[in-house]
Amino acid sequence: MTDSSPRELTHFIGGKHVSGTSGRFSDVFDPSTGEVQARVPLASTEEMAAAIANAEEAQVGWGATNPQKRARVLMKFVELINKDALELAKTLSREHGKTVDDAKGDIQRGVEVVEFAIGAPHLLKGEYSSAAGTGIDVYSMRQPLGVVAGITPFNFPAMIPLWKMGPALAAGNSFILKPSERDPSVPLRIAELFLEAGLPAGVLNVVNGDKEAVDAILHDDRVKAVGFVGSTPIAQYIYETAAQNGKRAQCFGGAKNHMIVMPDADLDQVADALIGAGYGSAGERCMAISVAVPVGKETGDALAAKLTERVKALRIGPALAESVDYGPLITAEALQRVEGYIQTGIDEGATLLADGRGYTVEGYENGFYLGPTLFDNVSTDMTVYKEEVFGPVLFIARADDYEQALAMASDHEFGNGVSIFTRDGDAARDFSARVNVGMVGVNVPIPVPIAYHTFGGWKKSGFGDLNQHGPDAFRFYTKTKTVTSRWLSHDLKEGASFVIPTMH
Ligand code: NAD
Repeated sequence: MTDSSPRELTHFIGGKHVSGTSGRFSDVFDPSTGEVQARVPLASTEEMAAAIANAEEAQVGWGATNPQKRARVLMKFVELINKDALELAKTLSREHGKTVDDAKGDIQRGVEVVEFAIGAPHLLKGEYSSAAGTGIDVYSMRQPLGVVAGITPFNFPAMIPLWKMGPALAAGNSFILKPSERDPSVPLRIAELFLEAGLPAGVLNVVNGDKEAVDAILHDDRVKAVGFVGSTPIAQYIYETAAQNGKRAQCFGGAKNHMIVMPDADLDQVADALIGAGYGSAGERCMAISVAVPVGKETGDALAAKLTERVKALRIGPALAESVDYGPLITAEALQRVEGYIQTGIDEGATLLADGRGYTVEGYENGFYLGPTLFDNVSTDMTVYKEEVFGPVLFIARADDYEQALAMASDHEFGNGVSIFTRDGDAARDFSARVNVGMVGVNVPIPVPIAYHTFGGWKKSGFGDLNQHGPDAFRFYTKTKTVTSRWLSHDLKEGASFVIPTMH
């Protein structure tokens, strides 16, 4: 292998870097240059089974460790990752293509959930009822599930793995992470940092792979729960397969987030919010705003003019450069797919106000860049309105009135996030209560809830019963055991009873 050959990445199993043995690899690109920078091994069913065996063995001791001690490991991890944050952010940017500042946010939002999970001793407390009957006390306890797994997407390679492993580990489970094969280096580093923080070897394992590795998780009885984030078809497949195999599953999918712009909104604020939320991270965020819904013709015309002006000023370039608003897309295929949607939008009759196709950055001609693209007059029957595009493309779909705008967001098959910009508290309140979407922003374009609330979309954006992070995460990663105990007084002799006990 020459010096210019791509690095060969590993798995992280049993506290050690382990080379892949399947003979199958996937290229990891530097999207800014278009070059292959590494090769990631794709685990076989046997490799995954070995990792699960390791995790199962390690879980016994970890699950029996008291929650305060487990929380201390998480505390130490937070200290270590904060020290390493800039280097980690650069690694993330190099593989993902988002700017370094944005990558720091990716890490920080993940760390916030680990910080929340440090409260595990409190969050794991059960309930107690004394004297529920004569001599009877009832109490419940939350116990770890055992081995649990996370399967995560490319677009938040730090945040989403941390959202899953933080609460899962704090609750006493061992964890198998199958990160995205597009940008696996940050998850591997996170596993190293957890080991350094004192997590016993084998409690956290990173197994790289594709469908074969995922299916190995889904069909292994030793894995008790699966947390997934990614595209909707895969979310649905994983939810159904995991459920058929008796596992707990929470699977979050794609999105098409609307921002309703009321006529009384400050349109400069709205335009700035839309530019950041629509084009930040090249639109590769599940909470990106992809549809602006101005209410009324006057609002629509003024907003379209303000957005067109701002779009021209956006700076696109390599992820590690300074003064860049957003970087390249993740792969050449992703670029091609989004460019295909732009053509579809034109063919369907939407008005193209800015065309980002064919964008090149000097010195980085092979990078996967796409300029900001803006469409007006998009209607709800168009493919580009119905499907997730996942790129720097913003669609203006005008509404005649508030009720029509509300119905658009509510009727869309995705229900991840939605936002309303208005100065009218009554409209905002009505909208928040009635809209059929899981996460709502009022004058907030990207309403990702803070760590101690929960995150989860509705409809085709989420399958399963509980949300990510916040108290729901501890419900998802634990099983509740309820104990009914009776200490009989010597003089209380009731004899055998053949009826169901009641509180009579
Ligand atoms: P993806 O569905 O292609 O991949 C996600 C994970 O599933 C990866 O680990 C991948 O290896 C695995 N996978 C891919 N194909 C598979 C198959 N056929 N069988 C089993 N496993 C498979 O998603 P992506 O492109 O990495 O991420 C982008 C998508 O994720 C977008 O749709 C975005 O909206 C969504 N997303 C959703 C949320 C949310 O919270 N709802 C958050 C982030 C991203």
